[in-house]
Amino acid sequence: MASYYDDNYGWYTIESQDDIDFYHQTQRASVRKKCKGCGQTVKIKREYAYCNSCADKLEKGYDVG
Ligand SMILES: [Zn+2]
Repeated sequence: MASYYDDNYGWYTIESQDDIDFYHQTQRASVRKKCKGCGQTVKIKREYAYCNSCADKLEKGYDVG
């Protein structure tokens, strides 16, 4: 069991081989781009505009960017 960090989802715990595969798949599908919210360069999926922490704030109703 290990904790992995990914800019799409933040920290998450990996317990099985399936999760590891999913993690690597997500990493492969991700590109380095500037987050629309905080302006930081993050590794997120092509179709995503915000990093995990900004997406979190958006979900909670905060204004980002
Ligand atoms: Zn951000």
